Amino acid sequence: MKAPSLEEDTVSAVSRKLIPGPILLLGAPGVGKGTQAQELAKVWKIPQISTGDILRGNVARGTEVGKLAKEIMGRGELVPDDLVNRMVAARLAEPDTSEGYILDGFPRTLGQAEWLDKHLAEENSPLPVVAVSIRVGYTQLLRRITGRRTCLACQHIYNVYTQPPKSAMVCDVDGTPLVQRADDTERVFEERMRTYESQTTPVIEHYHSLGRFAEVDGEQAVDRVAAGILAAAERLRS
Ligand code: AMP
Repeated sequence: MKAPSLEEDTVSAVSRKLIPGPILLLGAPGVGKGTQAQELAKVWKIPQISTGDILRGNVARGTEVGKLAKEIMGRGELVPDDLVNRMVAARLAEPDTSEGYILDGFPRTLGQAEWLDKHLAEENSPLPVVAVSIRVGYTQLLRRITGRRTCLACQHIYNVYTQPPKSAMVCDVDGTPLVQRADDTERVFEERMRTYESQTTPVIEHYHSLGRFAEVDGEQAVDRVAAGILAAAERLRS
């Protein structure tokens, strides 16, 4: 029997009654945070805020932030908390975040999580955060990372092994040539995984101890993962 699609079950049931508030998507590099954030942003009509995308934008524009971040990102390490926190504060001050937002790849350190808690308390944010981690095994992650190609125009994500574009290296949506991220190599991936284990695991423990954490199996079809995140968000909100 065909499994019900995201459209058929959870989306309609959950999205209608839930004011999303701040949703944090956590997980190792390649678990699909960006893909899921895009799906959920469409369902909830709230913005996806990806600190990685904001940093890459700065690198592309050659800003001071970009100059500082480029080498750090290229090594698979984390950009200093202070800088990323300021970037997030500026983005959260924009009016499109009033009903909620999806933070994709933030917080990544305990310092960032504590900063966010304090920032939201100071802003009298009415809804507590919901943190959802997507879990995927190591071998699968490596394949996803090394196969990932992105359209810089519309941010659509492809994978040369599992979701190739119709024409080689060109976006199906707008025909823009696809690019491979500079840090999507096997060597940098390994460092990003080490960084994730040491710095981001405490973030998961932080939200877990606050009773605001759920984990979703990321090795399912994209719509099933999204349905799992929607269900987890509803559970944690109630
Ligand atoms: P991502 O696109 O989320 O995989 O992030 C790519 C790179 O940007 C990371 O490997 C880090 O170097 C940097 N980065 C993204 N988000 C953060 C963050 N919250 N804190 C520090 N560095 C970050």
